Amino acid sequence: MWQVMGHEKAVALLEKSLRGGKLSHAYLFVGPPHVGKMTLAMNLAQALNCQGEERPCGECPQCRRIAERKHADVQVIGLDGRMEIGIDQIREMQHAASLKPFEGRNRVFIIDGADHLSHEAANCLLKTLEEPPPNVQLILLAVNERLLLPTVVSRCQKLELGPLPTPVIEQALSHRWGVPVEQARVVARLSCGCLGWAVAAFADEGLLSERAERLTALRHLAVAGREERFAYAAQLANQFSRDRESVQEVLSLWLGWWRDLMLIKGGCGNSITNVDQEAKLYDEAEGYRLGEIKGFAESLQRAMEQLDQNANPRLVLEVLMLAIPKGKEEAKTF
Ligand SMILES: [Zn+2]
Repeated sequence: MWQVMGHEKAVALLEKSLRGGKLSHAYLFVGPPHVGKMTLAMNLAQALNCQGEERPCGECPQCRRIAERKHADVQVIGLDGRMEIGIDQIREMQHAASLKPFEGRNRVFIIDGADHLSHEAANCLLKTLEEPPPNVQLILLAVNERLLLPTVVSRCQKLELGPLPTPVIEQALSHRWGVPVEQARVVARLSCGCLGWAVAAFADEGLLSERAERLTALRHLAVAGREERFAYAAQLANQFSRDRESVQEVLSLWLGWWRDLMLIKGGCGNSITNVDQEAKLYDEAEGYRLGEIKGFAESLQRAMEQLDQNANPRLVLEVLMLAIPKGKEEAKTF
């Protein structure tokens, strides 16, 4: 049984190809962080090595070892705290791919963060994508397809994994993970359709409090002076050089806040994401005009795109800081 929740279209397609023996030798799973890309990739790796009748059975020794990440033929190549996946990692993978499977039927290589392959690494990977050795399955996982070389994308079969509907997450949390109903409702909304985040947030309360702290710091910027805003921009830019994904997370969180303000202003307050901050959102929305909210949400989106395209982070973030509209609190404070 496929463990991944939702993504029925992708699962149906993979199942059909498996049954017909027509799997593509390389897949590219594209979707937001924690949406289920890795779970689906692991499920496919299980299906390719499963000894059960209904593959992936999830119970045979092969499936179990893969789920425990102990299977010698299933390898994950990732960023491991670096800025890029380097050519050395791809060469190592190619060497492993040239060997026969060790304990299963197929060797599976999952490239987690394929949108962060260095240029050389991506070019080097092309060789394997063009002529994969027998019994080798490649699965590339990416958040932002635009950062991949078009030649890499065109050699893979692409499956898009979009955010899951909130009720699906809510149900999964309460049925599969036993989360109390009310908590499941809040966490499901906050997850923006990413089940992995929702499960992690339930298991680790730190994630929720970290999120709340980040929001407080971001909200404070609306009443902070230029110096304080620039100091925050510098801090984020510095963080970006070490861990770009965490900065993108901060900006997504911020964008989510401004989208909620927009929804409230437009009379759609029942669709907001940050349900646990409803009162603060309503209060803050009063201090802005709809045009100001929209304008800043657009600035945020633009900044995120520019960071994706490797623009100077300090500059992008400083420009963003100057775009924050003056809120009600600022009028009061100054
Ligand atoms: Zn199995």
